[in-house]
Amino acid sequence: MNEITLTINNRKVKAETGKTILEIARAEGIYIPTLCHDPRLKPYGACRVCLVEVEGAKSFLPACTTLVTEGMVVKTDTVSLYKIRRTVIELLLSDHPLECLTCESVGRCRLQDLAYELNIDEIRYRGEKHSYTVEDFNPFIERDHNKCVLCGRCVRICTEVQGCYVFEFANRGFETVTSTPFDRSLVETPCVFCGQCVSTCPVGALTGKLRKYKGRIWETLQTVTTCPYCGVGCRLRLYAKNGEVIGVSADLELGVNKGNLCVKGRFGYEFINNPDRLKVPLIKKEGEFVEASWDEALSLVAGKFSDIKMKYGADAIAGLSSAKCTNEDNYLFQKFMRAVIGTNNVDHCARLCHASTVTGLAMAFGSGAMTNSIDDIAEADTILVTGSNTTEAHPVLALEIKKAVWDKGAKLIVVDPRKIELAQMADVWLSQKPGTDVAVFNGMLNVILEEGLVDTEFIRERTEGFSKLKEMLSSYTPEKVEKISGVPAEKLIEAARLFGRAERASIIYSMGITQHSTGTDNVLSLANLAMATGNIGKPGTGVNPLRGQNNVQGACDMGALPNVFPGYQSVENEELRAKFEEHWDSALPARSGLTVIEIMDAALKQEVRALYIMGENPMLSDPDITHVKKGLEKLDFLVVQDIFMTETAELADVVLPGVTFAEKDGTFTNTERRIQRVRKAIEPPGEAKPDWQIICELASRMGYKNMNYNSSREIAEEIAGLTPSYGGISYLRLEKEGLQWPCPDDAHPGTPILHTQAFARGKGKFYPVEYRSPAEETDKDYPLILTTGRLLFQFHTGTMIRRNRGIDEISPIAQVEINPKDAKKYKIENGDKVTLATRRGRIEANARVTERVRDGVIFMPFHFREAPANVLTNPALDPMAKIPELKVCAVRIEKAKK
Ligand code: SF4
Repeated sequence: MNEITLTINNRKVKAETGKTILEIARAEGIYIPTLCHDPRLKPYGACRVCLVEVEGAKSFLPACTTLVTEGMVVKTDTVSLYKIRRTVIELLLSDHPLECLTCESVGRCRLQDLAYELNIDEIRYRGEKHSYTVEDFNPFIERDHNKCVLCGRCVRICTEVQGCYVFEFANRGFETVTSTPFDRSLVETPCVFCGQCVSTCPVGALTGKLRKYKGRIWETLQTVTTCPYCGVGCRLRLYAKNGEVIGVSADLELGVNKGNLCVKGRFGYEFINNPDRLKVPLIKKEGEFVEASWDEALSLVAGKFSDIKMKYGADAIAGLSSAKCTNEDNYLFQKFMRAVIGTNNVDHCARLCHASTVTGLAMAFGSGAMTNSIDDIAEADTILVTGSNTTEAHPVLALEIKKAVWDKGAKLIVVDPRKIELAQMADVWLSQKPGTDVAVFNGMLNVILEEGLVDTEFIRERTEGFSKLKEMLSSYTPEKVEKISGVPAEKLIEAARLFGRAERASIIYSMGITQHSTGTDNVLSLANLAMATGNIGKPGTGVNPLRGQNNVQGACDMGALPNVFPGYQSVENEELRAKFEEHWDSALPARSGLTVIEIMDAALKQEVRALYIMGENPMLSDPDITHVKKGLEKLDFLVVQDIFMTETAELADVVLPGVTFAEKDGTFTNTERRIQRVRKAIEPPGEAKPDWQIICELASRMGYKNMNYNSSREIAEEIAGLTPSYGGISYLRLEKEGLQWPCPDDAHPGTPILHTQAFARGKGKFYPVEYRSPAEETDKDYPLILTTGRLLFQFHTGTMIRRNRGIDEISPIAQVEINPKDAKKYKIENGDKVTLATRRGRIEANARVTERVRDGVIFMPFHFREAPANVLTNPALDPMAKIPELKVCAVRIEKAKK
């Protein structure tokens, strides 16, 4: 790109070639009105509102599609332009219902703004008017064709950004409308209800139904915060009125999402004001919960913890912190467990999702986090997605993958047993038998090596241990890998060549890789692939684990793990322990504590007597729920702190009401290590309190003096002081945008890409990992493989998402995906009620016969309490990361008896 000079409204401005007049004018603060323009979309030039005068041009030119040139002379505000714009808007208004008194878009309607700007107080044009019925066929979006200005923004955003092709133009001339299949079955519609169409509609033609008649925009209190669902960490603007969150939008210029959201972020906010929210502390008396004062409940908890500590020792108490809570909540929770109780028995659900990432990447690179950034995906020329159903589990991040493929021509390799959406658009899709990932990636690397596609300079300069890996790889011939994994040899070679020849290849993975008894090996095999091809430390490359929940990265960073203090500082390191002992004014335990699964086992053996759970729901999220229930029931004392009466809270002795993300201040850290602000928008219901406040009050009742804070900001300051990678993080610096760790001091700009010059451990280390079969293999009693996962319209254990109207209309029941071949074999038809049985239990669900799964494998989501998949799953652990094998177990399926 070259720099040029042009003149706009008699002002000389510098610009880069390749930019439009509109872009340059906006960058210079020069206003040009628009209607069909949205920076997320390709320039369109349909509405003619942005016409400008360009010296020498035969006619007026649209600023949004005209590129700047050297010496160009532009005028944006002449009388002629004013007249044209006025005429355009008058013509639109001549067939537009002037229902501003009741229109949901009043106050944020471009047509209204333009009419005002252009002083249109009467419409000179009269003619035929449309009279369409308002469409109201789905729970989230209402469409009024009468208000449509045919700018095409909904059609384009659905096609260009989302790739759903739900909207199109139909008919011609005066009869032209945007058409959609909203009237089709909600379950079968291709619409993903992301609401991007609503977000881009400049008028009131497409509006969100949930906020209808709840408040005018100017009546609302607006708060910019961070999404409470997945780890992408989209920025949200909450609209609140009378203490209720009544709507959500996203700002075009903010965050990784830049105006985009998925159905959960945009429409999944009603849980905040759901009447089922816990509002007062509850104590179980004679098997029934009764309401209690904070004083009574906290005194009981403090007394019980103290008694158990006295009688059985501090390690008889354990705590589960929360990937849903803020960094400040998590920091205090682990501080409470360590400094007040005196145990390292603290863990959280990262153990169930990315423990193997933390272990594996720390071994290979020295840091267990996503190496690159979300924005950076667009720089890749090849993307390998494995074990991640990205469009459903991390929908907004998936838009970046789609953009790289569609707009920049990146090649896509998908390695996944199911034909997920990304597999359908992939250049190569490898459908491996679940649990055979190591063989597949060893096989790919073997081909890359054989064909001379490794980066020898990178291997020599930046890594160690390659010769041992090389020796081991030679046995992973494509033919052997085919026998193990079912991936045809020629497909494996094709994928290997694509990856090996790429200039910049990015690896994106998630729980399909990590939730195995070989999870750490799977991660190490991906790290080997990236390092051997030199795809680390530069834009468009990296090993990029996608974190499941909003703050699972932050909860790990904050030391809600049994072996590390905040910032992954080992509890077994004397010097580091002394640092925390001094700051926290308490003697700290030196031995690593128990992990999630070990805590449940210890509870069953009565080695753990009391458990404090903050914002986790192991009764749905953990493997082998029957075993979990037995463990929880064996406890002397169970405290659950949550926002709803979860399946786990039902078993508690005391339930403490916490608050949602909308009712507290703090920070979340997203999957790309970006720390972002969470801001209080409304007051909590009843007597519910922020989690950090509850922890502080409990600590003080247990006689601990060093946990007094007036705000979450004060906790964040303590975190920065004790956590080197968060050293430069402050609320002041996070005011507008987030910062990516490591950010060691106030002057540091944050780190978008890790390991650019050297790995965090010095040299990157190759580990020769051999293929090991899953802990449980199929046999004649359990002949199929069960794999579990997530759905777009659900989230985790459903605690929040299932308390939103509309969600259960679209995703009402747990469905078991089964291949037609297996369905025929077991005489199962689509929609049949089926029984699934494993060595741990049995459940019933509905069958969905589909080619999405390969034969021999069945898939089911784990979100539904009515059909809890984790009754079936295997708690066998990865020996290093202690993550359970949620992704593979042997199962039997049969038609349920009536
Ligand atoms: Fe929220 Fe994730 Fe959806 Fe973004 S992609 S809106 S963070 S659930």
